[in-house]
Amino acid sequence: MGALTCPAAVGITGGIGCGKTTVVNAFAALGVPAFVADSVGASYYREPEFCHTVAQTLGSDLLATPDTIDKERLAQRVFADPAALASLNALVHPRVMADFDQWLQQQHTPYVLFESAILFDCGLDSRMVATIVVHLDKEERVRRLLLRDPLSVEQIEARMARQMPSDELLDRADYVILNYEGNPRQRQVRYIHQQILSRINYSS
Ligand code: ADP
Repeated sequence: MGALTCPAAVGITGGIGCGKTTVVNAFAALGVPAFVADSVGASYYREPEFCHTVAQTLGSDLLATPDTIDKERLAQRVFADPAALASLNALVHPRVMADFDQWLQQQHTPYVLFESAILFDCGLDSRMVATIVVHLDKEERVRRLLLRDPLSVEQIEARMARQMPSDELLDRADYVILNYEGNPRQRQVRYIHQQILSRINYSS
């Protein structure tokens, strides 16, 4: 049976700036590989053909140059128009999941992480054996993002406003990692790692 040879998938999510990448790196230190779905999806925009398809589907006003998409304008468009969001998702999501499935077949660990900021929004959690939410309050996320990215507070808050609220994320999570400074992140990660390993053993 194919399922026995493929690792289980554990979803990891959280709002921008909460520390997803940092936590994924902590799992990597334990030998757990990660598929970063948002980066894979973002990489498609480097292909002119993909940008042309997006422009044909959602409007040529989204082109920044003949071969590139204005990502900020695209984000504003799909945030304001659910039908446009559904059309964009239909272009991106099946391809990301096909890339994930292909990648998964090359992994040989008991489980892998599937990182996506929109794990729950898109119902991808249904494919996961468990979900992890990385949590941090909004003020601290803004503070860290101002150090990380060339964005203004207004731009950061606009991005946060497009994401699922923290309460809802926490409500849906199987595991939560509190990524406050000084919190023993590595210990939380080790604990969840052990929990996931026994969860997989019990269910197989
Ligand atoms: P995300 O991937 O969720 O957007 P990152 O992992 O990039 O978030 O973290 C956002 C910023 O906060 C980064 O600059 C990172 O180095 C920093 N950061 C992450 N975790 C901590 C922590 N526990 N203490 C202090 N800074 C942190």
